[in-house]
Amino acid sequence: DLNNDAVSADLLRQTDRHPCYSFDAHHKYARMHVPVAPKCNISCNYCNRKFDCVNESRPGVTSEILTPERALQKFNLVREKLSALSVVGIAGPGDALANWAETRRTIELVKQSAPDIIFCLSTNGLLLPEYAGEIAELGVKHVTVTVNSLDPEIGRNIYKYVNYKGKRYQGKEAAARLMANQLAGIELLVRSGMLVKVNIVMIKNINDTHIPDIVKKVKELGAFITNIMPLIPAPGSAFADFPGTDTQELNHMRNICQADLRQMYHCRQCRADAIGLLGDDRSFEFRLPAEDNDI
Ligand code: SF4
Ligand code: SF4
Repeated sequence: DLNNDAVSADLLRQTDRHPCYSFDAHHKYARMHVPVAPKCNISCNYCNRKFDCVNESRPGVTSEILTPERALQKFNLVREKLSALSVVGIAGPGDALANWAETRRTIELVKQSAPDIIFCLSTNGLLLPEYAGEIAELGVKHVTVTVNSLDPEIGRNIYKYVNYKGKRYQGKEAAARLMANQLAGIELLVRSGMLVKVNIVMIKNINDTHIPDIVKKVKELGAFITNIMPLIPAPGSAFADFPGTDTQELNHMRNICQADLRQMYHCRQCRADAIGLLGDDRSFEFRLPAEDNDI
């Protein structure tokens, strides 16, 4: 398999313990998302900023934000009770790289405490050209990038704006900037030996017929798997009145794309603070004791 060639045996062994990258792992291994990344640097029309990042989660729930130190505390609490815990992920509620200092610190702290944990992070990809090197140095091997379009004419209908290096881009320009960075970023990650999962939000009449082209392109860049996700219209978002994507349409698209690249069929669109086996969120069981300075 072309997209396995670049991947070392060691990495594939890690992946066997990652419930999102390996279907067989998702009944056995648990992941924990730590909500340390509140800010975002772009605006997706399907996003309602009061909720967790739709790139990785379902709209309608909001996670409390943790500092890296609190995230470590929570990790230690969870690890004690959840022996199946194998993955710590940073999936918002904003963008992991738009909060790079917090994301990096969290990974460093957890790694010191538990060197065998697998890390993953999810991002819109805008800052990947800046941070791919540091991500690799940290030892992160699993990165999810959400790519909804390759064509600025399509992308302009999906993104309202992109804030990049002190400038706000809009319309076609915003889409073009974001896409160029996503594709360059994926390539950099793959070259550094990481497994890249590409999330694609399937939006009817906007990017749906374009999805097979996206899958082909990211395959060419070396992506390991794509995860085609339904649009869940978020109240308050620009796509609030858009039709959602039903499971049948979704699986039909995944089946078409499966011919090119392996597909994820078991994504649960977890919240940015999800804990446990996929589909069995236990985040409510793990509450941190209040800090002295909490009121
Ligand atoms: Fe919202 Fe995520 Fe898009 Fe940022 S990347 S605007 S948090 S959906
Ligand atoms: Fe895995 Fe999907 Fe949940 Fe992310 S949102 S942890 S890919 S199941």
